[in-house]
Amino acid sequence: MSTVATVVLLLIAYTSIAQNGWNNVNSKDNVSKDTISEKGYTLVFINKDSTFDKSVQQNMINTFFTIYPKEVKEYNCNSLKKVIIIIDPDYKDVAATADGIVRVNPQWMHKHPGDIDVVTHEVMHIVQSYPDNAGPGWITEGIADYVRNEFGVDNAGGGWKLTDYNIHQSYRDAYRVTARFFIWIEKNYKKNLVKKLDKAMRTNEYNEGFWEKETGQTVDQLWKAYAANPVLR
Ligand SMILES: [Zn+2]
Repeated sequence: MSTVATVVLLLIAYTSIAQNGWNNVNSKDNVSKDTISEKGYTLVFINKDSTFDKSVQQNMINTFFTIYPKEVKEYNCNSLKKVIIIIDPDYKDVAATADGIVRVNPQWMHKHPGDIDVVTHEVMHIVQSYPDNAGPGWITEGIADYVRNEFGVDNAGGGWKLTDYNIHQSYRDAYRVTARFFIWIEKNYKKNLVKKLDKAMRTNEYNEGFWEKETGQTVDQLWKAYAANPVLR
């Protein structure tokens, strides 16, 4: 090979590295993968959408490192130290989490770039890591939104707040409706109820008797009292 050809090849190789960045692996199908470690936690951020807003990506990464260690400390010290977030155009709902992997629909973040605490809710599912059949799904989702309400970095900016009570609701509605009910129980009946509930779910000790044991009331009695006076003081 001539010297000129070698120089040209080196130049092409260098240009390719410069365009892709040293720490950012871009394959031909535009998937980028960043691995970030901080204070004992590692986040692998895989982006399968080349049009995904980089500032939203950075906000999601920052939110992870702000929120996740707090959630682990408060709820489950044995939670995973390594988490994967995938921006996945093939995922059509908002977001979902299983086995340490969070999948987020880029279209949702495109339309709601301020809804950064999707991360706060989703990574709480990793902390929860409830076994199969631990208990009803409304408890799982109610706790994740309770934690989002407590720890969220910018719920207001994401246009997110607890749903006010109305007569059409049930505690089984999950998410914000259930989260508000949990806060009300903690204020009126039992401090730290959610921590106990979370632990009971993770250790497979939850059953319907949980509510009566902790508050003296069944969950239906609690909901009736909540419906009669749902004010959060
Ligand atoms: Zn959820």
